[in-house]
Amino acid sequence: MNIGVLGGGQLGRMLALAGCPLGLRFRFLDPSPEAPAGDVGELVVGGYEDGAALERFARGLDAATYEFENVPAQAVRKLAERLPVYPPAGALETAQDRLLEKQLFSRLGIPTPAFAAARTAPEVEAALEHVGLPAMIKTRRMGYDGKGQAVVRMPGEVAGALESLRRGAPGGAGGGAGPDLIVEAFVPFERELSILAVRGTAGEEAFYPLVQNEHGDGILRLSRAPAPSVSGELERLARGHAASVVRALGYVGVLAIELFQRGGELLGNEMAPRVHNSGHWTIEGARTSQFENHLRAILGWPLGSAEAVGHSAMVNLIGTAPPAEELLAVRGAHVHLYRKAARAGRKLGHVTVWRDTAHDVDAGLESLRRHLGGAEKTW
Ligand code: AMP
Repeated sequence: MNIGVLGGGQLGRMLALAGCPLGLRFRFLDPSPEAPAGDVGELVVGGYEDGAALERFARGLDAATYEFENVPAQAVRKLAERLPVYPPAGALETAQDRLLEKQLFSRLGIPTPAFAAARTAPEVEAALEHVGLPAMIKTRRMGYDGKGQAVVRMPGEVAGALESLRRGAPGGAGGGAGPDLIVEAFVPFERELSILAVRGTAGEEAFYPLVQNEHGDGILRLSRAPAPSVSGELERLARGHAASVVRALGYVGVLAIELFQRGGELLGNEMAPRVHNSGHWTIEGARTSQFENHLRAILGWPLGSAEAVGHSAMVNLIGTAPPAEELLAVRGAHVHLYRKAARAGRKLGHVTVWRDTAHDVDAGLESLRRHLGGAEKTW
């Protein structure tokens, strides 16, 4: 079977690496001829809204998916007129807009930081009356890895925050009202967790265990799986939240939900309608990887167990990546390099330390830190 993937980044590359043993072949659509998935499948170079490129991409495919959350929902809808495309475009549209996302969580009874929509400075001031200070102002669309966000601690900081968001918005500095925004209460959470759910075409479901995530400069640095110190109650709460989201969206595929833990409560931060960086550990650390389960789900095939095997820690290689053979000196290390050109802040690969016990994983992380020689700032 021929699977099409919109986006040719590392997620697409790892989808294909998981799909090859199942007899699947892959084609990617990406604007860059350097897209890392080009190593493991056919690469159609073109924009997502380029009709001719989309046509070349779609020809002969049996099913399609996407690995990049900012693909235009219109391109997904167009493709879905001629072949099965999952996750559904409606889920993509919700996930592309932080306001729709939070409204969905609220409707489903999933707690969130207090939030309000705004566009102009007076609307932001009014929103702050509702959510309180400190607050985070985020662009509703196109934010990722901490981009499109500003913290406001005092009322006088609103103008500066809006200016920084306007400068960073697509289209650049320009005047006008600026991008659509969401104003959120700044939550003093204890830790960040995520849960990955998989739902198949017949509604069957599987849930990976909660993962603990650490970010630096808005970018995921470290994921520990299963997350330490998680009670059965917290795990059930997370699964309940994830189940209600995938059911409400009629979802098919892997969906990731990022959560803030505050005591026994899990607040919904955002979701990603695709395989997710906090699920890379599943390649070694789960009975079935998120990549394989995503493919099984979108093809209507039986899902695999999402149970964790042993303990894992996944470290992103950001900006620089030592040679594989150096990293492999760490006991239990599994190295994944994406063959991307090095650039500050760019995810170039990841290492998963996979061992029988959490204690051994910690020892592996210590050793990995020495090999990375300060390249990883925040963990
Ligand atoms: P996001 O792009 O929404 O995932 O935000 C990036 C990071 O900013 C998150 O992983 C959190 O560490 C932090 N963050 C986002 N929203 C909030 C919030 N409402 N309160 C506190 N920290 C937040």
